[in-house]
Amino acid sequence: MKPDTSTTQLLEQLRDQLRHYNYQYYVLDDPQVPDAEYDRLFQQLKKLEDENPELITPESPTQRVGAQPLAAFTQVRHEMPMLSLDNAFSADDMQAFEKRLRDRLKLSEEIPLEFACEPKLDGIAVSLLYENGLLIRGATRGDGSTGEDITLNVRTIPSIPLRLMGDDYPERLEVRGEIYMPRRGFERLNDQALKRGDKPFVNPRNAAAGSLRQLDPKITAQRSLEMCCYSVGVVSGAELPDTHEAILRKLATWGLRINAEMAIVEGAEGCLDYFDRLSAKRNQLAYEIDGIVFKVNAIELQQQLGFVSRAPRWAIAHKFPAQEEITVVNAIEFQVGRTGAITPVARLEPVFVGGVTVSNATLHNMDEVERLGVRAGDSVIIRRAGDVIPQVVSVVLERRPATTVSVQLPERCPVCDAEIVRVESEAVARCSGGLSCAAQRKEALKHYVSRKAMDIDGLGEKLIDALVEKELVHSPADLYRLHHRQLASMERMGDKSATKLLQSIENSKSTELANFIYALGIREVGEATARTLAVHFGSIEAVMAASDEQLQAAPDVGPVVAKYIVSFFHQVHNREVIEALRSAGVHWQDVEVDVKSLPLAGQTWVLTGTLEQMPRTEAKKQLLALGAKVAGSVSKNTDCVVAGPGAGSKLQKAEELDIPVLDETQFLARLAEYNG
Ligand code: NAD
Repeated sequence: MKPDTSTTQLLEQLRDQLRHYNYQYYVLDDPQVPDAEYDRLFQQLKKLEDENPELITPESPTQRVGAQPLAAFTQVRHEMPMLSLDNAFSADDMQAFEKRLRDRLKLSEEIPLEFACEPKLDGIAVSLLYENGLLIRGATRGDGSTGEDITLNVRTIPSIPLRLMGDDYPERLEVRGEIYMPRRGFERLNDQALKRGDKPFVNPRNAAAGSLRQLDPKITAQRSLEMCCYSVGVVSGAELPDTHEAILRKLATWGLRINAEMAIVEGAEGCLDYFDRLSAKRNQLAYEIDGIVFKVNAIELQQQLGFVSRAPRWAIAHKFPAQEEITVVNAIEFQVGRTGAITPVARLEPVFVGGVTVSNATLHNMDEVERLGVRAGDSVIIRRAGDVIPQVVSVVLERRPATTVSVQLPERCPVCDAEIVRVESEAVARCSGGLSCAAQRKEALKHYVSRKAMDIDGLGEKLIDALVEKELVHSPADLYRLHHRQLASMERMGDKSATKLLQSIENSKSTELANFIYALGIREVGEATARTLAVHFGSIEAVMAASDEQLQAAPDVGPVVAKYIVSFFHQVHNREVIEALRSAGVHWQDVEVDVKSLPLAGQTWVLTGTLEQMPRTEAKKQLLALGAKVAGSVSKNTDCVVAGPGAGSKLQKAEELDIPVLDETQFLARLAEYNG
């Protein structure tokens, strides 16, 4: 049957689109769409070509590898082409793969077919050429036949040996593998980029490609890149073993890195088992992988099977479900948090990514909205890797509809209409309504009842929302005034659940100091800090009375947290809530703090001059924690003076009064002694 014009048009359209995406991805290291979208279009094109084989052209993306190398680099012609891999997306695809191999090899069912399994590292394919054991050239895959000369860049990568170990290596040996950026290095690189206000890399693959294809190898040297080898190209002057696995083990003896997860299995079933095992481990690996590569292990069978245009017949990449997807932002809304923080949230057209359906993604703050340039109506790339919350990675500008408008921070709180304020130095904008804002009240209550705080079972989010909306509860103390009748009349509540809830509210009255402090919801005071404060101060009165300085003497309390604590207790409203809670019967056992037993209890110390090894604030903090007072001037009541270089009158006075003086080294040694 003759293909109609619409098929030809669709084919051309798909090819054009894929060529454009290839260029962005391979040449510019700046992908426009997620791999999942690219793969869908690629599969669509492949299917159309399978149905109309007479329309396949040699330039079709299905017949080619990668894209043209960048002209800025010297070009390298590969003596043996560097190919891509066919993809499998399901167990059925894997079964079909084994069947294709068996048919072609005419293998009967009883004969096992061995596969070597390796994680598919998400980086950039490179070729390393060794002559007489010395690294003489590194090249990218490029379009498979011509790559870029990146010798100077690969020489900066510590896991690539410049000279092979041992003496049994072939005279000429071309090693192939993946250069990738481990997750940790990727996070660091992007943190730095964000701090500088630069555009971060979309994912580790891109970061690796961008770092490697630098005209200035000094930049490559600063990036954390590693190489893992997975095959050989040209080999002359020695015989290599006859299985893929044994060849890789041989490479390892010459000092080349191979993947520690490599394993040998039998048949598609064995491959699928390995796939499941690695899927479970995927998020714990130090690097990103996007699938598993399965290769026929026997080299002789590989040779019999040979190649098709862009990939070997004897290997396949079984891809994991995508961690990046494309979807549409239906709206951008603003949420109000417990501390009034206004958070822009993208409401998304639901999309399945990273194993879950995602319909919302936080945009964090207005700086992030501006950085992304995201608008309602935009198509965006959503990333959800591991258990990390879904992230909007970038906007697909070419899909932006004509009518979108940029997002503005509202001037007034969407919940209580109070003014929204944004402090110059802070990224976060806040509703100024405080606890008069229903949203903040709801969040404060949700925090108060949560498990790690007062642990009130049966008081879920919806019920809190309803109690606040009906004005039955304004502050946590109101919870203790609720009646059975009021609760039983709420939606989805009955007699029984009201009784149960009242019981758990009653039970919550008996608590611990740390839980109570945490439940108050002071900014930056999490569970651990609440515990520290309880142990350090012993009672709520002591925490409330503590000065900035005294607070900072508690372990892990820095100036910012201390400021929040002081300002929390400064507010009359908060003191009233605490009082009301105590009157309602909330109680706990105070913690015994035996200040007298601290090693420097009752002593007064003075710090003077410059401390070179420990910031003065830290020195002061440590002294306070050991029970000492730190004074600003020397008197006869001073017990000890720590004097660094440049100490003047205070040191002189100490000497006059015969007060012990320590230099910084002696001081640090003393601290170490006290701190055991
Ligand atoms: P591929 O990534 O699907 O597979 C081949 C590559 O896998 C090899 O070249 C090698 O670099 C790598 N690999 C990793 N571990 C390996 C191992 N153990 N053994 C052998 N090879 C291993 O193919 P490709 O041709 O590099 O790229 C095509 C893919 O790139 C597409 O499927 C798509 O996901 C992505 N892509 C995305 C866009 C985009 O716009 N988002 C554009 C082009 C390509």
